[in-house]
Amino acid sequence: MSETKRPCPICKSSVQTPEYKPFCSARCRDKDLNRWFNDGYALPGRPADPEEIAREQD
Ligand SMILES: [Zn+2]
Repeated sequence: MSETKRPCPICKSSVQTPEYKPFCSARCRDKDLNRWFNDGYALPGRPADPEEIAREQD
């Protein structure tokens, strides 16, 4: 049995909810999502890169 415990990347809490891995809660997961969206909006005029999308789905 191997158990890997990683802190929540958002708030660094050692609490981890399996449902929201690797985050501790839905709140932190949403925070991370919002960060990604904000990054996207910060680069106006940049079309979605098909290669990056393919990598995401991999
Ligand atoms: Zn957290």
